[in-house]
Amino acid sequence: MATAILTDARFAGHTNPRHVERAERLTAVNHALDASGLRPRLQSLSPRPATRAELLAVHQPTLLDLVERMASFGGGHIDGDTYVTEASWEAATLAAGAAVGAVEAVLSGQCANAFALVRPPGHHATPGQAMGFCLVNNIAVAARATLGQSGLQRVAIVDFDVHHGNGTQDAFYDDSAVLFCSTHAAPLYPGTGAFSEMGSGLAKSTTLNVPLPYYLGDTGYMHVYEQTIILALRRFRPQLLLVSAGYDAHGDDPLGPMSLSTSGYARLTQLLYDAAAELCDGRLVLVLEGGYDLDALGASVVASLRVLLGEGPGPTPHPATYHEPDVGQLVERVKAQHPLLR
Ligand SMILES: [Zn+2]
Repeated sequence: MATAILTDARFAGHTNPRHVERAERLTAVNHALDASGLRPRLQSLSPRPATRAELLAVHQPTLLDLVERMASFGGGHIDGDTYVTEASWEAATLAAGAAVGAVEAVLSGQCANAFALVRPPGHHATPGQAMGFCLVNNIAVAARATLGQSGLQRVAIVDFDVHHGNGTQDAFYDDSAVLFCSTHAAPLYPGTGAFSEMGSGLAKSTTLNVPLPYYLGDTGYMHVYEQTIILALRRFRPQLLLVSAGYDAHGDDPLGPMSLSTSGYARLTQLLYDAAAELCDGRLVLVLEGGYDLDALGASVVASLRVLLGEGPGPTPHPATYHEPDVGQLVERVKAQHPLLR
């Protein structure tokens, strides 16, 4: 069965040439896809905008009204990082709709797995606040819509963006139907995502944060994922795996302090692909978040798509010659202290 991609030229209307989160990001992804020769093997699906009801299942109406109104008046700034253009409302609702559509395509059996290649990104948008380049939380809207409509009872979201997915965490912090796992550099924007943040109420173990030391690379990331994130997925047994796929942990990224390689991203994607195959019939949807070095972004998205197509991550390159920070103690602490892993 096929791998689907969902993207739309209208995402380019949300752009600011002086900002790292700009239209050229998806242009770079599209060029890399063309050069890869993968395009004929991918099923290209057109997204629809998320409905107001789908957005309201995650977001407060005041946030939606603010973004829509700001766009209708020609745009502006929500904060120092987060801009709105006259096309941003259309782009944001289409981005959330693409994430919803990607899940629908996988659940209906139209494709085996899917990648929503969207902008603006979403994982910093909380229920009540647009922030960190994000207007609407695309992956949260998709997860909520799935739980509401499909009859699924457990959805997992893994966030490998270099920044903590604070908005996604907030949306599901007290919801035991959604396991949210995030690996992120610390300290870094937005400053949340401490290991001690594990969920609340009946959902006291369904948030797993693994804050990571700067300069972590392929070896450390693989160790963290094999020993914590994948184990948490096995315990939770999701019926669908969603991934906030941010490529700003790449060593070439101008915003992220990490050292993942393109091959490292492929191997990370393979771990998640294998977990989905083992736990939920392969049902896997990636939703694009960050990634600001255009070449690294394009190459890493292509590398992830090769994995989704079943090609594997390719040969493992020689290990890096520099010494990565040691995450052995961190992993042991997470395994000993998180209720889902104990
Ligand atoms: Zn990021």
